[in-house]
Order: sequence, then C-alpha cells, then structure tokens
Amino acid sequence: MKIAIASGKGGTGKTFVSTNLFWVASQKGIDCALADCDAEEPNVAEFIAGEEERVEEVYQQVPVIDPERCSFCGKCYEYCSYNAILYLPEKRMIQVLPDLCHDCGACSYACQAGAITEHPKLLGRVTRAVYGAAQHLVEGRAEVGGFIPLCRSSPIPSMRPATGSWCSSTHHPASHVPLLQPSTGQTMWCWSLSPRHSVCTT
Ligand code: SF4
Ligand code: SF4
Repeated sequence: MKIAIASGKGGTGKTFVSTNLFWVASQKGIDCALADCDAEEPNVAEFIAGEEERVEEVYQQVPVIDPERCSFCGKCYEYCSYNAILYLPEKRMIQVLPDLCHDCGACSYACQAGAITEHPKLLGRVTRAVYGAAQHLVEGRAEVGGFIPLCRSSPIPSMRPATGSWCSSTHHPASHVPLLQPSTGQTMWCWSLSPRHSVCTT
C-alpha cells in the first residue's frame, strides 16, 4: 500500500500526519518507509531521525547546441514544449535556456545533425536512512536556488527499500516534488487541507 499525504499549501499538517502514521506503523512492527518529498524544505528528519544508509545525487541533463554543427532546421525548437530554446534563424542564433528546460530529451531526439549534447547539472540529493528494525526514511533535498523539472531519471526506484508498504510521503504543489516523483502509483491520497480538516481518497 502506498499513501500520499498532500496539500495545496504549506503549514496544513502534512508532516504531522505522515510522521505520526509512520511512527504508529513502526511501533506495530510494520515493514514500511516514509518519503519526505518536500525537497525545498524537508523537515521529517527533525521529528524522526534515522541512521544514514545511502545518498544519491540527482542530475538534470541540460542540452547544449553546437552552432557549428547546427543546420538551423528548427526541429528542436518545434519539439520543445517548454519554450526553452531561443531560435532566431534569420540571425542564425540558437541556444537552450537552461532555466526553462524540463529535461524531456525531445530536442536531442529531434536533432538529426548531432548538434546537441547533454550536460549533467546537479539538482539535489536523495538520502535513505534506516529507522528501527524494518523501517526506512527517504528524503529529497534540492540544491539551494535550483529549479527542479521532472527529470527523466529519478533515483526513487533504486532508493525505495524492499519493503512491504511504502507508508507515506509528504509534499505540496509548490515544492520540488519531481526530485522524488512520489505521485506515481499511490493507492491512497490524503489531502491535508487545513490544520483541522483532512480528506482521504483512494
Ligand atoms: S530537453 Fe526538452 S525542455 Fe529541455 S530544451 Fe530540450 S526539448 Fe526543451
Ligand atoms: S534540430 Fe539540431 S540542427 Fe536543427 S536547429 Fe536544432 S540543433 Fe540545429
């Protein structure tokens, strides 16, 4: 079972709900894990600390266009859904705007001229810690000031422990959720709407 604890804003009690769920599960000896996906400001570890077991860096692949090899066909510009490519064919100017790039890989796929190479940019780190006998804590932490797009490769599959239950995660829309990509495959969502009102959906 996978439970996502989410909200539309900060301060509604996501950490309170998820840490308590996790703590109760751990007290009952349930094999589970808690992921703190609020990568801009992870704070679960302030309430439940574990012993660090593994750290993995998360990178975005940023395309770079070589103007010498570019034929200015405009294919990459057409393929980019994020307006991340500045394309001025009449001035024979083309370049990727890294802050708008979402690491989708479409431009590299589109370019037949071999003018695009991808360069890794560090986005943050995912840490896994052991808590108790059969429980794990996973935390995403973004680099300060960085923008985190939906990366092609998330470390979460490899960081997910071999546990029976992916107990809960905590995130809100403004956070750098894609660092952990927690929204996939949840079997229950718990929306923490205000300090006093929560809704669960399955
Ligand atoms: S990787 Fe995707 S978002 Fe980034 S520049 Fe290429 S097409 Fe645009
Ligand atoms: S697809 Fe390749 S050759 Fe065409 S404009 Fe983009 S970088 Fe240049």
